[in-house]
Amino acid sequence: MIDLHIHSNFSDGRATVFEIARKAKELGLKAIAIVDHSLELSFGLDERKARLRQIEIDDARSIYGIRIYSGIECGINHSGEIFLPEHDFDLIIASVHENTTDYYGRVIKCIEKNDFDILGHPLSEMFEFVRDHKLEEEMLDALEAHGIALELNSTHKCPPEDLLISCADRGIRVSLGSDAHSLEKVGKVEWCEERRKKYLRRREILLP
Ligand SMILES: [Zn+2]
Ligand SMILES: [Zn+2]
Repeated sequence: MIDLHIHSNFSDGRATVFEIARKAKELGLKAIAIVDHSLELSFGLDERKARLRQIEIDDARSIYGIRIYSGIECGINHSGEIFLPEHDFDLIIASVHENTTDYYGRVIKCIEKNDFDILGHPLSEMFEFVRDHKLEEEMLDALEAHGIALELNSTHKCPPEDLLISCADRGIRVSLGSDAHSLEKVGKVEWCEERRKKYLRRREILLP
């Protein structure tokens, strides 16, 4: 199993990189990604924190011998922009973090303007918006054209199953993430795994 969405105490998570790595090792996870929030939030990862965190990630890799990606989760703003500190990340997640009437527009603009790997918690039920199937198709076209993966997120319980079926039909890859902000939630991706098996039996899981 993999968990490619874990927050550490370098942003608003409670656990340290080492605690997360040890827990992942105990659970027998194949790979994890530590993806702290980015510059748009006051507590997010800046260049200094990204550098310090990288040292811990490199140490944790050699101590625990597991695959740990150094990642970041950027909020997508109203004009589709994301903001990143200067750093060589292994993996970039972009996510909408507020209620908006222009969810699809933001995501599509973001895909066109930026280079990232995974769309985080797509169509999360935590944010209110009305689904629009025409715009949804455009969003899937953009994801497919740019090779961006869709995230199955067990905290946000998304995406909805019908969207997942459309992704499977198109061969869009999926990523699995707990969105853990505490040690107890690291590796809690059973909700994602069930859906992955059900709908994406012949598709690959994202492993960068
Ligand atoms: Zn998020
Ligand atoms: Zn998150």
